[in-house]
Amino acid sequence: MIKDVQIEILYCGVCHSDLHTARNEWHNTIYPVVPGHEIVGRVTQVGGEVTTFQPGDLAGVGCLVDSCGTCPDCREGLEQYCPTFTLTYNSPDPQTGTMTYGGYSSRIVVDERFVLRVSDTLHLPAVAPLLCAGITTYSPLRQWQVGPGQKVGVVGLGGLGHMGVKLAHAMGAHVVMFTTSPGKTADAHRLGADEVVISKNPDEMKRHLASFDFILNTVAAPHNLDVYLELLKRDGTMCLVGAPEDPHPAPNVFNLIFKRRRLAGSLIGGIRETQEMLDFCAEHGIVSDIEIIPIQKINEAYERMLRSDVKYRFVIDMASLKAGTAGNG
Ligand code: NAP
Ligand code: ZN
Repeated sequence: MIKDVQIEILYCGVCHSDLHTARNEWHNTIYPVVPGHEIVGRVTQVGGEVTTFQPGDLAGVGCLVDSCGTCPDCREGLEQYCPTFTLTYNSPDPQTGTMTYGGYSSRIVVDERFVLRVSDTLHLPAVAPLLCAGITTYSPLRQWQVGPGQKVGVVGLGGLGHMGVKLAHAMGAHVVMFTTSPGKTADAHRLGADEVVISKNPDEMKRHLASFDFILNTVAAPHNLDVYLELLKRDGTMCLVGAPEDPHPAPNVFNLIFKRRRLAGSLIGGIRETQEMLDFCAEHGIVSDIEIIPIQKINEAYERMLRSDVKYRFVIDMASLKAGTAGNG
């Protein structure tokens, strides 16, 4: 179509949402499904009315490929809250009547409004995870105005969590990493954490009671939220971005009302804010820490993700598609 941009996909990050969807853990998967919403590549063709991209440009695509453009959320640049948005995969496409298919593929065609500009100064495969893990952590950190003088927690050192630590550190906050994996302590410091807390150790947790301005919780599994709510100051907020298959146990209401604490959620980010995040990362030299895999290793990557054994995002090299099925894992 005349506003479409065709992109040859070079790299695609592997988000835990891909795993949730591939295994129908959210009970909404329509098979066949092609996951992948951390896409970077090169523009190969553009429609006649495309003004912002031309063949040869680097480009990125995240979790969204369309929205109504007229509702209050879209008008505010918050397309992720549009009631009729179209996700990059496993979403009915109002333009064609078929389902959308994501980035574990050689190419994708997307309306130019949903194509992001990618810096050529950063390591391209390591930029891919910014399109979901980056914006999903950047958006709440900005919404809650994280910055110097604030004590900020990030829970879970995976794909989202490692971006959360890097970004909160770059925004100037005092960052505390909460992890269940003692072996990740040195990495957490290297990524920008000022302190690291092993969340399974109640004594370590108690040292931080009622001291946090903001906590970003990225954990992909149900867990006890109270142990984190207790760590918030009066009026502090914990924002959940993890989306586990089963619900978290309901928190103790006294942990909320006694200090007017808030429990919130946040979904990815709008297109304008995603571009802002990409520009922020280019300016600060921030990319994801990645392990590049061929597409044939995707099931192994999912299993390692479930064991919290990812450092800290798998990225598929799409050149492996041409390599055939050798080494299928
Ligand atoms: P990930 O790379 O697998 O990281 C999740 C991390 O959570 C793990 O590395 C682990 O860190 C921790 N964890 C896992 N199981 C745990 C458990 N039982 N108890 C405590 N901690 C546990 O996943 P991701 O790609 O970052 O995604 C995280 C979640 O966010 C997923 O549910 C995904 O679907 C969701 N998500 C939401 C949005 C949104 O817009 N809100 C966008 C993208 C993804 P430690 O080893 O450090 O404990
Ligand atoms: Zn994602």
